[in-house]
Amino acid sequence: MNVIETIDGVRAVRPELGRLALVPTMGALHAGHVSLLHLAKKHAQRVAVSIFVNPTQFGPREDYQKYPRPLDADLKKCEDAGVDLVFVPQASEMYPEGTPEIGIDLPSLSSQLEGKHRSGHFKGVCQVVAKLFNIVRPDVAVFGQKDFQQLRILSAMTSALNWPIEIVTGPTLRESDGLAMSSRNVYLSDEERQRALSISRALFLARGEFDSGVRQVIRLTATLRNTLLDSQRGRVQLLIDYVAAVDAMTLQTADLITRPTVLAIAARVGNTRLIDNVVLVP
Ligand code: AMP
Repeated sequence: MNVIETIDGVRAVRPELGRLALVPTMGALHAGHVSLLHLAKKHAQRVAVSIFVNPTQFGPREDYQKYPRPLDADLKKCEDAGVDLVFVPQASEMYPEGTPEIGIDLPSLSSQLEGKHRSGHFKGVCQVVAKLFNIVRPDVAVFGQKDFQQLRILSAMTSALNWPIEIVTGPTLRESDGLAMSSRNVYLSDEERQRALSISRALFLARGEFDSGVRQVIRLTATLRNTLLDSQRGRVQLLIDYVAAVDAMTLQTADLITRPTVLAIAARVGNTRLIDNVVLVP
C-alpha cells in the first residue's frame, strides 16, 4: 500500500494503477467507511482513499480542531481492506498560501437542509472533492448515503462539470442499536449516545408508517418530531436543527410522496451534531 502526502507523489504513481476507485474521507475510519472500501473494490481493480480533514468545509464554530485524527489506526484499516493508495495531504499541500479563493456552488441543491445550517459547507466540500478528482483522476468515486445531500451535490457537480467519473453510493452502516456510524459518535457520552438513538428510532418509525401506506409528508414529519422529543425528560436534551422530507433528486420539499423521497434529521445532542436519513421509494 502506497501512503503518499504530496500531489506530485500521487501523480507519479497514478499511471501504474489502471482503473481506480477513490473513496474520499476525513479519516477516523469506522466500519461504514470500510464498507465503502469494499464496495470500491467491486467497481475497480485498484482503490485509493484520501484522508484529509478539509478546513474549508468547517464553519468557524465547528469541530475542525478537535476532529479525531487516528492516522495509524486508519492506515491499518486501509491496509486490511486491500487499499492500494492512501493520499494523506497536509492542509498546506492542498491550500498553499496565496491560493485564490474559488467556489463551486450548486445553490438549488445546497441552500436547504445542511447548507442552510452550515453556511459555506458545501462550497468547501465541492472545492476539496474537485481538487481530489483532479489530483487522483479516479474512474469511480464512492460516497455514502449517510451524507445524502453531499452525495446528491457531488453527483450533480460531476455531471455538470463533465468529469468522466462514475459515482457509486454505499448504504448507511449502523451500530446494532440503530445509531448511524459516524466519526463524531466518539464525542458522545453514554447518556448522550442513548439520547441520540431517538434519531434512528424516529426514522425507522416513520419508514414503518410509509411502508404501511402513509404518503402525507406532514404525518411522517410529525412522527419524526414527536419521536425525537418524546424522551426529552432525561438530563440530556436533543435540539432539532431540522426534520425534512425532500425529493431524492431535487432536494425540494414534497407534500405527498409520489417519488423517491429522503426523510432527514439533523439534531444536536450535547455539543455533538448528528445527521441521519432513510430513503422511501413508493
Ligand atoms: P467522512 O469521513 O465523514 O467525510 O465520510 C467519508 C465517506 O464515508 C462519505 O462518503 C460518507 O457519506 C461515508 N460514510 C460516513 N458514515 C457512513 C456510514 N455510517 N455508512 C456508510 N458510509 C458512511
